[in-house]
Amino acid sequence: MVIPVTEKPTPASAYEVALQQYDAVARRLGLDPGISAIMRSPRATLEVNFPVKMDDGSVQVFTGFRVQHNTARGPAKGGIRFHPAVTLDEVKALAMWMTWKCAVVDIPFGGGKGGVICDPKRLSPAELERLTRRFTSEISAFIGPDRDIPAPDVYTNAQTMGWIADTYSMHHGHFIPAVVTGKPLALGGSLGRNEATARGCVFVIQEAAQHLGMVLPGATVVVQGFGNAGSVAARLLHQLGCRVVAVSDSKGGIYDAAGLDPDQVLAHKQKTGSVVGFAGAESIGNAELLELPCDVLVPAALENQITEENAGRLRARLVAEAANGPTTPEADRILYQRGIWVLPDILANAGGVTVSYFEWVQNLQFFYWTEEEVNQRLRQTMQRSFRAVWEIAQAQQVDMRTAAYMLAVRRVADAIQARGIYP
Ligand code: GLU
Repeated sequence: MVIPVTEKPTPASAYEVALQQYDAVARRLGLDPGISAIMRSPRATLEVNFPVKMDDGSVQVFTGFRVQHNTARGPAKGGIRFHPAVTLDEVKALAMWMTWKCAVVDIPFGGGKGGVICDPKRLSPAELERLTRRFTSEISAFIGPDRDIPAPDVYTNAQTMGWIADTYSMHHGHFIPAVVTGKPLALGGSLGRNEATARGCVFVIQEAAQHLGMVLPGATVVVQGFGNAGSVAARLLHQLGCRVVAVSDSKGGIYDAAGLDPDQVLAHKQKTGSVVGFAGAESIGNAELLELPCDVLVPAALENQITEENAGRLRARLVAEAANGPTTPEADRILYQRGIWVLPDILANAGGVTVSYFEWVQNLQFFYWTEEEVNQRLRQTMQRSFRAVWEIAQAQQVDMRTAAYMLAVRRVADAIQARGIYP
């Protein structure tokens, strides 16, 4: 179809973005067409509609998804998000990104993702538990410790994972902690898992800062999203001496040129439900926040935030994608031309799944590590991966996302090739 040039294109969906990114790299790598076609679609997709008894006695039917994108390198791995706007298309994109993410950091997993269309903020804890348990039951034949291992994502947490572990275990008649990661410590969760996404992101920011000649103490930071990734990234960067000048959540943002104390902002959010209204800070919109001048911008919310519409107005030196898919391919091109460095999601937020891998290993071995060991191994993994991506970016004269994709897609293609096609 030819789109008239005057017509403004509708924004691409997350899955279209994921496919565009993949297609560009598959072409560049000159992959065998058959191997390339395998990686282009998810190996399996499950959609379930299931009833939940609500507190008022009524029954509501919810829709959920679990997608396994690729399992050539190991079991599918990836989070489950609870969000009113989650779609199968989005989950397919997120599953594909998980395949590349696990390959970039070279952990023995494929990619998967799940989602349930619901608004967790409007469900009681008991409703949330029943929804989680019934969804787990519906997907329980699909998941498993050597098949597909869920984890937390947007609006799910350690408690959600505890319910998943328990439900799956009840079905099997014994406790199987390795079926899910990001669990509470009391159920075999790993020390350091909660902070891992943000900690990994900060490790690669430190690597990038060295290359840019950016001194982190005193550097200004803007964080979009104040959930598990964003709030911890703000805290860790603050601890390194950065000045966190603005943060936001789904309700809006706050700005203070003198710098915010992320711990105090978190305490305010825990009390009131949002960062908005934090004493002494100016309020600022989410769109405006992305365009603030800063050294480091950390998008830590949802997809499609940095687009061709606003990429020309960004004033950050470095963008570190703690969120999945915050930048569209058109925006990537604009940022690259403008010399703004992007640390892509599949590298920058891979710390979460890396420590998920450590958790799974600990569960399978019944042998638990100290927090220092976890953080030390995480640091090694992030530094090694950053350097591998950086070298490709230098050698091929490409941006960091293209380099990360080249590394990841090649690794998955090699695994498919080595396994061969059954039968
Ligand atoms: N949801 C996280 C991500 O997008 C973590 C996935 C995992 O630990 O399996 O990377």
